Amino acid sequence: MPVLVMKFGGTSVATLDRIKRAAKRVGLEVAKGYDVIVIVSAMSGETNKLVGFVNETSPLYDAREYDAVVSSGENVTAGLMALTLQEMDVPARSWQGWQVPVKTTNAHSSARIEEIPTDNITAKFGEGMRVAVVAGFQGISPEGRITTLGRGGSDTTAVAFAAAFGAERCDIYTDVDGVYTTDPRISQKARKLDKISFEEMLELASLGAKVLQTRSVELAMRYKVKLRVLSSFEEPSDEAGTLVCAEEEVMENRPVSGIAYSRDEAKMTLVSVADRPGIAAAIFGPLSEAGVNVDMIIQNIAEGGRTDMTFSCPTDQVLRAQKALDEAKASGDINFAELIADTEVCKVSAVGIGMRSQSGVAAKMFETLSNEGINIKVIATSEIKISVLIDRKYMELAVQSLHDAFELEKTT
Ligand code: ASP
Ligand code: MG
Repeated sequence: MPVLVMKFGGTSVATLDRIKRAAKRVGLEVAKGYDVIVIVSAMSGETNKLVGFVNETSPLYDAREYDAVVSSGENVTAGLMALTLQEMDVPARSWQGWQVPVKTTNAHSSARIEEIPTDNITAKFGEGMRVAVVAGFQGISPEGRITTLGRGGSDTTAVAFAAAFGAERCDIYTDVDGVYTTDPRISQKARKLDKISFEEMLELASLGAKVLQTRSVELAMRYKVKLRVLSSFEEPSDEAGTLVCAEEEVMENRPVSGIAYSRDEAKMTLVSVADRPGIAAAIFGPLSEAGVNVDMIIQNIAEGGRTDMTFSCPTDQVLRAQKALDEAKASGDINFAELIADTEVCKVSAVGIGMRSQSGVAAKMFETLSNEGINIKVIATSEIKISVLIDRKYMELAVQSLHDAFELEKTT
């Protein structure tokens, strides 16, 4: 029988009633003849609560124990979803990551899936089980310890299962009815997109449009998994949601498809480092080893053989970054006068595959921000995006005015 993957995010399983509602949707697909793999997140708020417990207990925690604690939310919803389906007379069974087993790397708290053997679940389907409910976000390391895939990792679990089982589609049920031109909570003019390319979605995901985990989009692109983002609160329909698909299938042709933002950015400046060959490696090597996700980087013009180096990273990695750089300084690998952390910044980005062929996008973006009196602190560009770091207090204003400037509320 054809396999369908259905993933339910935290808000879709936040209460027993919502689990029931989600289970009914699963039942509809089973009735159509699909064998269904359901991937569940933890109930909404649960993972944050668990992360809070870990941070309070041990600020520089052992990532193995972080994973032991934080993976547990999904175990609860997987069991409850299986029970709910059974109550509806749908033959269902729950699976924790290690039982499948979802084999991952050793990188605790941000592990990558390496392999998903399909034999266990396929055998159960053969015996009449119709739904395998799998706890998202978790797997097992080569050492046999529980790992997690990074925040939002259940999306990646879902796409990886869809790829492994050759699923007809991977439906991601969430609390929004699709992918929007920007966050509708920030701009009322945000418009739902019927389709978006993998590449644009990748940029939007990595830029903080929290609909899908970045890695899930990378995987979907690599394995050509048909990905649909839709709301579990709307009536079921074949046209619902946004289809994430190959560029050729997207008809719209405009320079910018969406405005993304990331609220929790920090701007770190190393004041007065030696301007010599190898200095960037000496700074960013230790940061990478410490697991700091550096995004934008600027090296200033040197004066008297010294320069300032600025980079951005998520605010919750500032402590790690400081520690890694202080250690590198103590060991004599680098020297700097001061490390300044500005944690009151955010990143706003314009994204669109149309930028490749249309010029003037950057100029328009900068002019729009300037008209609002917003100062740009750092700029970075790629082929299909332009990002700026600005003061966090201007985030909403920046997003709204850019959405207006590029007329994203209008369909083409
Ligand atoms: N519960 C995990 C999180 O909030 C994984 C997920 O929901 O995708 O990050
Ligand atoms: Mg999510």
